Amino acid sequence: MKLSWQRQTVYPRHRFATSRGGLDEVETVVVRFEQDGIVGYGDIVPSALYGQTLEAAESVLQSCRELLDDDPFALESIVARLIARHDDQRATITGVESALYDWCGKKLGVPVWRMLGLDPPQIRTTFTIGVADPDLTRVKIDEALAAGYEALKIKVGVETDEQTLELIRSKFDGPLYLDANEAWTPAEAEERIRFLAQYRPTLIEQPLKRTDWEHLRGLRDLDVAPIFVDEDCERPADVVRLRDHVHGINIKLTKCGGIREALRMITLARGFGLQVMAGCFVSSSLAIAPAMQFASLLDHADLDGYLLLADDPWTGIACEGSVLSLGGQPGLGVVASPAAAIE
Ligand SMILES: [Mg+2]
Repeated sequence: MKLSWQRQTVYPRHRFATSRGGLDEVETVVVRFEQDGIVGYGDIVPSALYGQTLEAAESVLQSCRELLDDDPFALESIVARLIARHDDQRATITGVESALYDWCGKKLGVPVWRMLGLDPPQIRTTFTIGVADPDLTRVKIDEALAAGYEALKIKVGVETDEQTLELIRSKFDGPLYLDANEAWTPAEAEERIRFLAQYRPTLIEQPLKRTDWEHLRGLRDLDVAPIFVDEDCERPADVVRLRDHVHGINIKLTKCGGIREALRMITLARGFGLQVMAGCFVSSSLAIAPAMQFASLLDHADLDGYLLLADDPWTGIACEGSVLSLGGQPGLGVVASPAAAIE
């Protein structure tokens, strides 16, 4: 058994920004797990928002060597051990779990979604238009529509909201998702959400700061659009806490620690009658592929992280219009392109 890793940098086609700030490049850690001549890959996409760093990821990987079992199929106990030791670095746990799932699928010659007993992954994703000045916003919208994307997500909570939404609705009549990324106070949020109703949002994501979660119920009861939590909802226990406050949750593997934790969140959410969405960060399709495995269990997908890149180092997820799908390739279903220089 051999666990190794290397850093990888990816670049968004346009600078990607939210109400919180922007980025021009993303550095991740590609995890490589090798046993019996088979190699599985996973990606660690640390988020500073959750106290995750590249350095912490690499230090956790050092300690993972002793936490991995001789049996890579023992995923439940491996993930439990990793969470018990490194609960605050769940992006890293996701990367390790992804590499193990990829290995297990390749060893059995089946896709991971099939190992999980799920239907073939096929789901419409939103395509995100990040915050930008009006000229660049216009370019991004025109590019997205020319590419045939059928559902758009707009980052709101900045001064140019009205201008951007007017522009979008003058060109696009389809599903429009709004994400405020914690931009508003409870008092502002009610007024902003009532104002945004005219743009017919499909849903509104994370209107309030994480610490203001008890005010979400009032926004939910406005009945303007379904209210979803993202930053607020990291792990299974958060679904229980938020169950009576929102319409739905946005699961991201970087937050929760991988496919197994995501499936627990989905089970809880369904039990409480909540809708489920899966989201992502700007990243290669190696980081998107694990969330694609359970696409058949989702109401909404925002898995466009790799579509925002100038050049994705991995291939395998098909995209037609806005519909993402995975075929019958074993493991996670993505492979490194030769130019990616992945060992
Ligand atoms: Mg979000």
